[in-house]
Amino acid sequence: MSVRTRFAPSPTGYLHIGGVRTALYSWLHARRLGGRFVLRIEDTDLERSTPAATAAILEGMAWLGLDWDEGPFYQTQRMDRYREVLAQMLKEGSAYYCYCSREEVDAMREEQRARGEKPRYDGRCRTRSSAREGVSPVIRFRSPDTGETVVEDLIHGRVSFQNSELDDLIIARSDGTPTYNFCVVVDDWDMGITHVIRGDDHLNNTPRQMQILQALGAELPVYAHVPMILGPDKQKLSKRHGAVSVLEYREQGFLPDALLNFLIRLGWSHGDEEVFSREEMIAFFRIDAVNKAASAFNPEKLLWINAQHMQRLSPEGLAQHLRPYLDAQGITEALLTRGPELSAVVALLQERAKTLVEMAVAASMFYVAPVSGDSKDVEKHLQGQAVLLDSLIHHLEALPVWTAAAVHSAIQELAVSYAEGKMGKIAQPLRVAVAGRAVSPPIDTTLALLGKDQTLARLRHAMTWM
Ligand code: GLU
Repeated sequence: MSVRTRFAPSPTGYLHIGGVRTALYSWLHARRLGGRFVLRIEDTDLERSTPAATAAILEGMAWLGLDWDEGPFYQTQRMDRYREVLAQMLKEGSAYYCYCSREEVDAMREEQRARGEKPRYDGRCRTRSSAREGVSPVIRFRSPDTGETVVEDLIHGRVSFQNSELDDLIIARSDGTPTYNFCVVVDDWDMGITHVIRGDDHLNNTPRQMQILQALGAELPVYAHVPMILGPDKQKLSKRHGAVSVLEYREQGFLPDALLNFLIRLGWSHGDEEVFSREEMIAFFRIDAVNKAASAFNPEKLLWINAQHMQRLSPEGLAQHLRPYLDAQGITEALLTRGPELSAVVALLQERAKTLVEMAVAASMFYVAPVSGDSKDVEKHLQGQAVLLDSLIHHLEALPVWTAAAVHSAIQELAVSYAEGKMGKIAQPLRVAVAGRAVSPPIDTTLALLGKDQTLARLRHAMTWM
């Protein structure tokens, strides 16, 4: 049977990295085995689900390239099907109407507690033969009373639950709407899911879901419950740690593959390797090799992995990723065509930048001349340097060819006459004059890329800052 996995987020909040990791693991499992990956939006909680959250989930998945083969299916559009299965179960006797009032159930629980028993619904409506006037009943699943339900979890191993501990679950409310666990069961069944890969906060739901599937005569899927991601302080991941919408990682300039690479490594490893391409992730990932302990989020590591992925891309490929970030810096298409070739600028910045935002900021000096210099840098490196700047202009203007090597020798020569051979004494003022601040890639290559006219124009303009 071919493999079918699913990602089933509830659109009640952001798609954050915990959810993305679960989606990634499901996606990888399907992709490696040539199976199908289904996207299902669990939107039955009408109060908490929002269209904005659904849109953000779809956008996040698309940005990450976690493409789905079927769906998105929406639970709210499947109500007729759930009702149909409820009717079938009522007919077959695996479900029954329960007319107990809340007060009655509360009293039952009180008595059980008083007797030192674990509170549970005692199944008293299982045998009730007639309706109670004026009461809209709920529907309960008739769960087995004895024996055990065993989850052979791919990550957690064998987890067994005593059936006597599991009481008859409400599968439809008194207004007829199906409850969460029931919808999941019907969906996994209808969608032919073979591997349920989800957060381990759902492990306790699994025996009940298995029992209902069994009652329906459905084949059971294999389960893999993925552990939580914790913050660097080992506490539950919160906003403060970056449990924000995954789209914020895009804002911050992370490459989608780098984020996936970071997430795959949380609780899974392949030898000593840290950096994986998308193809390698698909080839190497094994769901049953995921660690069952929760793993902690390390922001430094994410930056490091992102830098690695940026370095591995071709300058042209990276330039494509960079475009929207340049746009956000005000570097328009028109400015790009007037300045140096973007891939050449990218090649120059590729070794150092940790994020696309950082790279876009660094690249912008190639396309927009600074209007004024950073006041501290001007004061430190340009004040009193009019003679030097003037002579730089003359030297550079006289260069017959404009290459990094030619610029380099010009700077070297000037260093000999003005700064006892110390290149930095020339390079820093030069940097501030062309970039507006004392940070830029190697100055000779920077000037070579800027071009002669642009360099000279900037140096002349910088004379007005002093
Ligand atoms: N909708 C659930 C959640 O977002 C996932 C349920 C499941 O995967 O079975 O936590």
